[in-house]
Amino acid sequence: CYHTKIITTSPKAKIAGAVHIEFDEHDALKSAREIVKTAIENFSNRKGNIYIPDEQTNQIAGFSHETINYLLGGLFRASYRPLNDNIINGRIRGVAGVVGCNNARVKHNEAHITMVKELIKNDVLVITTGCNAIACAEAGLMVPEAAREFAGKGLAEVCETVGIPPVLHMGSCVDNSRILMAATAMVKDGGLGDDISDLPVAGAAPEWMSEKAISIGQYFVGSGVFTVFGVTWPTLGSKEVTEFLFKDFEDMYGGMWAFEPDPIKAAQLMIAHIDKKRKVLGIDKARERVLYDMEMRRELDAV
Ligand code: SF4
Repeated sequence: CYHTKIITTSPKAKIAGAVHIEFDEHDALKSAREIVKTAIENFSNRKGNIYIPDEQTNQIAGFSHETINYLLGGLFRASYRPLNDNIINGRIRGVAGVVGCNNARVKHNEAHITMVKELIKNDVLVITTGCNAIACAEAGLMVPEAAREFAGKGLAEVCETVGIPPVLHMGSCVDNSRILMAATAMVKDGGLGDDISDLPVAGAAPEWMSEKAISIGQYFVGSGVFTVFGVTWPTLGSKEVTEFLFKDFEDMYGGMWAFEPDPIKAAQLMIAHIDKKRKVLGIDKARERVLYDMEMRRELDAV
């Protein structure tokens, strides 16, 4: 009824009845312009029952693995060291990758926003892609000022110092590999174990719907990340298969699946996993920062 045109861009994924505008990766701007022009030309066909809200929000996107490196360490010393240090000293409790689709079975964006707000409130830095990123941007979580309003004290302090939002947009849903690149960089930088499964991190897709989300989730689990999905879970009919995925996988991969449709409970599962990893690493108690005066220094020298 809105005369919406479906446009396919890959020769491998054409749809009957859709308009096909092939994406030329050597001239992406040309393909993008053609698609935008098609949309503009079709706009006059949208008549009647149209509601476009007046509200507008800003967002800062484009936090690729390389950009995070640069933002944290600067041009000459680009590294994840400041992130690792702030995880070790407890200002940042851990990192969560919250990604994935919207699902028509639940209220649009509600689980995404509720989960992400619960995580950042508890000092967990969120990195995101795909439709979760759009939801977070709409909710105003992707500007540096969001740290003061929504994040816990420790995370807000780090975000304000570096000038980043508490939720970092790492790209589209096919860019999830960037999240694992970030996790690998954290391991390489040292101080947080020897494997991704040692890190105080967790993953989630609170409103997933596409099979692709399951395969991406398995990529996370197989890499050692505890990953929780919402809405529905396809193996609940079999106790054996479900226990295999939710429990036995941990011994095999270091990461395992979980299912929890309530976004607050799901966020708490992720935080509990992050705390479990912090304890194993011996960083479960934030280090007290003591400022030494001259007298205290003299006492130290005398020892
Ligand atoms: S597959 Fe990607 S673009 Fe499609 S609904 Fe899921 S997250 Fe969004």
